[in-house]
Amino acid sequence: MSGPPCADVIVIGAGIVGAACAHELAKRGLRVLVLDAGRRAATAAGMGHLLVLDDNPAELALSQYSVQRWRDWARDMPEDCAYRQNGTLWLAANAEEMAVAEAKYQLLREHGLDCQLLGAQALAACEPELRTGLHGGLKVRGDGILYAPNAARWLLQSPHIELRPATVVEIDGRRVRLADGQWLSAEALILANGVYARELCPELPIEAKKGHLLITDRYPGRISHTLVELGYVSSAHNASGPSVAANIQPRPTGQLFIGASRQFGSDSPEVEGWMLAKMLRRAVDYMPGLAGLNAIRSWTGLRAASPDGLPLLGQHPQRPGLWLAVGHEGLGVTTAPGSADLLLAQLLGETPPLALEPYLPQRFPGVRAHA
Ligand SMILES: Cc1cc2nc3c(=O)[nH]c(=O)nc-3n(C[C@H](O)[C@H](O)[C@H](O)COP(=O)(O)OP(=O)(O)OC[C@H]3O[C@@H](n4cnc5c(N)ncnc54)[C@H](O)[C@@H]3O)c2cc1C
Repeated sequence: MSGPPCADVIVIGAGIVGAACAHELAKRGLRVLVLDAGRRAATAAGMGHLLVLDDNPAELALSQYSVQRWRDWARDMPEDCAYRQNGTLWLAANAEEMAVAEAKYQLLREHGLDCQLLGAQALAACEPELRTGLHGGLKVRGDGILYAPNAARWLLQSPHIELRPATVVEIDGRRVRLADGQWLSAEALILANGVYARELCPELPIEAKKGHLLITDRYPGRISHTLVELGYVSSAHNASGPSVAANIQPRPTGQLFIGASRQFGSDSPEVEGWMLAKMLRRAVDYMPGLAGLNAIRSWTGLRAASPDGLPLLGQHPQRPGLWLAVGHEGLGVTTAPGSADLLLAQLLGETPPLALEPYLPQRFPGVRAHA
């Protein structure tokens, strides 16, 4: 028995994606019930780097749109969300990567992004802690950082939103069954539970991609941009085997976040020493001074990876009333605002801000065919 609808929309998952969807629904005056199981969330594990990535046109469109939306939201965000527009500095270690930087520069400029190519000297002047011998870099000024768990909490602060601790164990039409046996119903359900989506919808093509991170003690002023090696695009983002890439981010506290690793087939939370060591060696290779700093914590998180790296945003083709906002891989903090806008445009019949096709769940045959 589910009784009368308890909200206009039930959102399953209070990570950054579910929170962004709830926020936008509440802004339109809809009553939203957000159910969250309190499990290990990628939102709490990630780096909170807001960046434009351009592996393919759809990723570029969604990340560019979303980074702009974060800049707009940041005007109202409290300080504990730790938003900063500090820019990304893509690092080219050799001539080949410098050519990648130049191609990226052209593409991003064509899309109206504010960016600048730096030669070796300009790069060293910009970030003196980098090792000598790098070929140059590309600075993307509009990128930023934030503390995603607090941003998610901020997004959920609305009299139209009720956040309830509860685990959904079954979805049936427009109703959900909770672990205590209670059924709840609404006009629409949004599934935004990240890497756990397959437990409720086994037909979704989502795999866990584990990542390690480490944070240092406070060392203010060492670097100002988020530093990412250009090899990241080939060695980490697209790889299927375990991979690492230097990714070093200055936090407003003066701490440094060090990432990033990626591996499939391991979804245990444990920090794996060999992987952590590999990741740190890579970061130290770009910023030698890191070797002398104190680390205070390392941890892991799971990214929800779809086969083409893009999220699934839209109504489940075989389950009317169930709307999907899952599969954000390593970019879900960045793309949460755009994901919410694209999903709500479909749900509420509004004009979408971007072409929807690349993100529709029915692009995957297994989802299309699900009975
Ligand atoms: C190591 C690492 C680094 C990253 N760095 C970045 C970065 O720098 N920039 C970036 O943009 N992205 C980054 N990401 C990716 C980003 O963190 C994720 O894409 C994003 O947080 C996904 O948010 P989500 O809301 O979809 O899922 P999650 O944050 O995982 O939230 C899912 C929520 O669903 C709840 N839930 C699960 N099952 C149920 C259930 N049955 N019933 C009710 N609730 C349930 C959980 O309790 C959880 O709160 C990183 C990820 C990792 C792992």
